[in-house]
Amino acid sequence: MTPLAERLARQIAATGPMPLADYMAACLTDPDHGYYTTQDPFGRAGDFTTAPEISQMFGEMVALCLAQAWMDQGTPTQAVLAELGPGRGTLMADMLRCLTSVPGARDTLDVHFVEASPTLRDRQASAIAPATATWHGTVADLPEAPLFLVANEFLDALPIRQFRRSDTGWQEVMVGLDDAGHLCPGLSPSAPIAALDHRLADTRPGDVVEICPALPGIMAEIAGRIVRHGGVALFIDYGDWAGIGDTFQAVRRHAVTEPFAEPGLADLTAHVDFAAISGAARKAGAAVTAMVPQGVFLERLGITARAQALARGLAGDALDNHVAAHRRLTHPAAMGQLFKVIAIHPPGTALPPGLHAQGAA
Ligand code: SAH
Repeated sequence: MTPLAERLARQIAATGPMPLADYMAACLTDPDHGYYTTQDPFGRAGDFTTAPEISQMFGEMVALCLAQAWMDQGTPTQAVLAELGPGRGTLMADMLRCLTSVPGARDTLDVHFVEASPTLRDRQASAIAPATATWHGTVADLPEAPLFLVANEFLDALPIRQFRRSDTGWQEVMVGLDDAGHLCPGLSPSAPIAALDHRLADTRPGDVVEICPALPGIMAEIAGRIVRHGGVALFIDYGDWAGIGDTFQAVRRHAVTEPFAEPGLADLTAHVDFAAISGAARKAGAAVTAMVPQGVFLERLGITARAQALARGLAGDALDNHVAAHRRLTHPAAMGQLFKVIAIHPPGTALPPGLHAQGAA
């Protein structure tokens, strides 16, 4: 057993089974044993490869989307360029380089990161040098200012609770101990749960739904700033609109693994519910775009023209890799359809490029 597994097993033996969210929080961000807090999980040698690690084109398209929104809103001064969960800092490094070609943008936008991991904060600082940033532990600490924000594969790392519908209510998936004292999932007794009433219409007994308890608070903080001061927040992640089913997943060294076997050593994620993002942001008074597949979003922003321009300077393996990267980011069989994009913006302002309004085609 990992040291974290031993500690969690002792805790469960003493106080009983814990919700999946508590288990996930311990596995990912425990100060001593957490997956993100203790290691660098990115890149070819790591556990997974994210879009910014695949090609600089991803950061360039995101930067141009945010820059256009900044211009459409009248180039507000003392604005914040923020990223949630920046990983190795690659996305922001690519964005900052791209923003030097947007007049005024680099001098106006202050970089702010929300990052839980001290190890990754160091990596992010080196990635964007000589530019500098301010780090925060939570979104609530972001400044009150016009906010141009991106979060790529951040929300999927937030702890979720999982429920299975029964005939009389819902049973929660809890982490307990098996006869051998190992961590294993179980189900709580069935009970009605008011927070899931909105899922009674679109689910049947046996269906599994997931909620992310931290999401509404995070969206309220971000949407509130955007409504008060202007800005745009762009969320990119794998997920769907009010999805049904168990999406809790562990990945280690690019392979799916058992989520209760090695707490702290594997990445744990769940699909993001874009309906929950939209609902929370609207409640805070913001406008919310439709959810758009990543491939469509990047194509609308001109990634193919950019890919062709970059390809002109390449040959051999470098060219092959570049073509493969473009395909991987945009093709429906790769990341193009599984990953989705949604944006929140102040009511009455222009739609961020690449996105359309809810209800429009
Ligand atoms: N956006 C990056 C990394 C995604 S991985 C990329 O696309 O490559 C998730 C990131 O979120 C990591 O940087 C991780 O340390 C951070 N993170 C995870 N949970 C967090 C939390 N609760 N608060 C702040 N940062 C968190």
